[in-house]
Amino acid sequence: MSHEHYFIDVSAYDRVDVYRLIELAGITCPVAQHVFKKAFATGKRGHKDLRRDWQDIADSAARRLQMISEDEATFGQQNTIDCRTPEEKGFNDPRTVEGVDVSFPTEKHMNFAPAEKCDCHRCIAEQGLGVGGLPLNMLKMILCPVCGNKRCPKANDHRNDCTGSNEPGQPGSAYQ
Ligand SMILES: [Zn+2]
Ligand SMILES: [Zn+2]
Repeated sequence: MSHEHYFIDVSAYDRVDVYRLIELAGITCPVAQHVFKKAFATGKRGHKDLRRDWQDIADSAARRLQMISEDEATFGQQNTIDCRTPEEKGFNDPRTVEGVDVSFPTEKHMNFAPAEKCDCHRCIAEQGLGVGGLPLNMLKMILCPVCGNKRCPKANDHRNDCTGSNEPGQPGSAYQ
């Protein structure tokens, strides 16, 4: 058969759902999984939701393109799946959690080191942190995680040292 790779052997099962199909097809990219699942169900919830379903797919695709750009800029390659060892690659991929990468060979390096969760003003601005289009600092008071003061320079930027102070006019503070 000329297009053998389009065919999946499902003979082990009487019925398959979208998750089984994703598994059998070997779709490991989390965004591709989401898009696949969305496309599978597109419009089934009623015509009203058709546009919404396609918008979700477009949003996911846009994020994937963004991730490819991030990976190209940081690692010089598009694919987040890279089964080479750090020695073979010539650099240590920080996206792999050292010593706990127990995934299948095709899924190596998909274990992301948990990002340090930070609510400082700088991270809110840089990462667009917020809820419903409102930045996080509009929704809650941003405090230094060490001393709990809003005027501490560390509340403004986690790279600043904590001064343990709530004095106005501190260099690097969000409140000048
Ligand atoms: Zn931060
Ligand atoms: Zn502080």
